[in-house]
Amino acid sequence: MALEQYKQKRDFKKTSEPKARTAKTASHIFVVQKHAASHLHYDFRLELPARPGGEGVLKSWAVPKGVPEKAGIKRLAVQVEDHPVAYAKFHGIIPAGEYGAGQVEIWDKGKYQLVEQTPKSLKFKLNGKRLSGNYVLYHFDKRNWFLFKTK
Ligand code: MN
Repeated sequence: MALEQYKQKRDFKKTSEPKARTAKTASHIFVVQKHAASHLHYDFRLELPARPGGEGVLKSWAVPKGVPEKAGIKRLAVQVEDHPVAYAKFHGIIPAGEYGAGQVEIWDKGKYQLVEQTPKSLKFKLNGKRLSGNYVLYHFDKRNWFLFKTK
């Protein structure tokens, strides 16, 4: 199951993060959460089916330096476990001692359109408040992707 890893890492009696549930949704949302964990990073999440034709999850990447707002900047994005769609609304404090302990803020959110998906890349158009335009996620090694904006 797509959210097994998400579930295993968390104790829902202790954290107020959403429980592991998939969702049947037609919309395609994205969110960027600023996460002040032991290392500050930005979590970039795109709503996509967990598997072809399946229910929606948030495919997720941790971006240490943040999502570029302009073309010409390439950022490392490390893929992490799928998150439930409800996680897009989560902000608050993950308690000390819990996985990812620290503050989570919504840095940007909005809709996106999937332009192209290949085994190695995702091309999409973001429509958020801070981020808008065409972006690429390019898979180059294990969990490592590049995230950049195109003109
Ligand atoms: Mn995080």
